[in-house]
Amino acid sequence: MPLPNDEAQSSADALSALSVLPGSALTSTALTERYKSALLGVFGTPQRVLVRGSGSHVWDADGRQYLDLLGGIAVNTLGHAHPLLSSVITSQLATLGHVSNFFTSPAQITLAEQLLKISGAPGGSKVFFTNSGTEANEAALKLSRRNRGTADKPRTKVIALENAFHGRSLGALSLTWKQAYREPFEPLPGNVQWIPAGDIDALRAAVDETVQAVFIEPIQGEAGVRELDVDYLRAARAITHEAGALLIFDEVQTGMGRTGQYFASAPIVPDVMTLAKGLGGGFPIGAMITFGHQTSDLLNPGDHGTTFGGNPVATAAALATIHVIDKDNLLTHVADTGQWLTEQLRAISGITAVRGRGLLVAFDLEKPIAAQLVSAALDAGFIVNTTGPHTVRLAPPLIITREQLATFIAKLPALIGQGLMTYKEN
Ligand SMILES: *Cc1c(COP(=O)(O)O)cnc(C)c1O
Repeated sequence: MPLPNDEAQSSADALSALSVLPGSALTSTALTERYKSALLGVFGTPQRVLVRGSGSHVWDADGRQYLDLLGGIAVNTLGHAHPLLSSVITSQLATLGHVSNFFTSPAQITLAEQLLKISGAPGGSKVFFTNSGTEANEAALKLSRRNRGTADKPRTKVIALENAFHGRSLGALSLTWKQAYREPFEPLPGNVQWIPAGDIDALRAAVDETVQAVFIEPIQGEAGVRELDVDYLRAARAITHEAGALLIFDEVQTGMGRTGQYFASAPIVPDVMTLAKGLGGGFPIGAMITFGHQTSDLLNPGDHGTTFGGNPVATAAALATIHVIDKDNLLTHVADTGQWLTEQLRAISGITAVRGRGLLVAFDLEKPIAAQLVSAALDAGFIVNTTGPHTVRLAPPLIITREQLATFIAKLPALIGQGLMTYKEN
């Protein structure tokens, strides 16, 4: 079928001509086979082929509906197909879609200003835009290298925490804890030392005048939503300050309202913060914020760059996301709803621990049946995810309602039962 070139043609006609319109003769089974022969196998076989979303729901190619309790892994803060987000993205694209970083745009400047404002950044603070969390951490690692000390007292190493996840590019991977991710790709940029998370004495012992930076996720998401308490973050602030090391908070998963405040690390102010996932409400964008003159001056013209980072459409999407978070009082909604969700989960038998803040929540199961539960939940119309054999993670859209969550809570005991049954059969 030829592509429509007539302006009168609707966008649905265009999608249809591109063979990506939902509801055509594309079944899940056929599409999954095509996926397997065309896409690199790093993600395994996809669980479903999704064709449409609205609010907190998505639909697959066979017309089945799911309540999305994962939100694209803490990304779809405003749910799916949010009308304001869609219209801002569409308008910006129709007005000015991309310019190189030889130029700027009002959306880019305004978003940088807003991020500095909501993060309480002092004068001299700056923003660098990226397309992902990995790239934001990559920028932060490059910036750390510039905190090099002096010729007779060089700073040579970076500290990260056990169970940390900072991304998969060689630089970001070099900070990531899981050996299975790192080892097959060595050599990686070196001199990273991991210390136990949450242990102030270990931090004090490790951070001296040879350290360039300390990377911390305020809540370790991929590790199963493991929160570092504010006293630890405060101690990290004092210890890094004393030693002249940069304190870098990776808020890629925890930032932008996910925990019921804009940033999980507040009120502790780092030297660098990285953001991505929820920032664009589903549109790809990341950011690195550098706090204060001294840190911001570590990277100078020519030191770093990106083609797509900070483009008009992505920055407009983030502006729309922040606008809706404020207008709809989503931070309060997330805090209240998260509190309620946590209490509900704690009351369910077979669940041994519930962790998290706001709408970033994980629960541990008595038996290692997380994978079985994820699969049973999917069959029952709920998208959840596991971070380990015992652990299920929830990171739904920030707009999800208590009533929607209650449908999952009501079903959960039965799903755990089903998970247990499959577990015992195998
Ligand atoms: C997801 C994640 C990243 C990587 O972000 P991408 O956008 O996937 O590149 C980095 N750090 C944390 C804490 C994350 O959760």
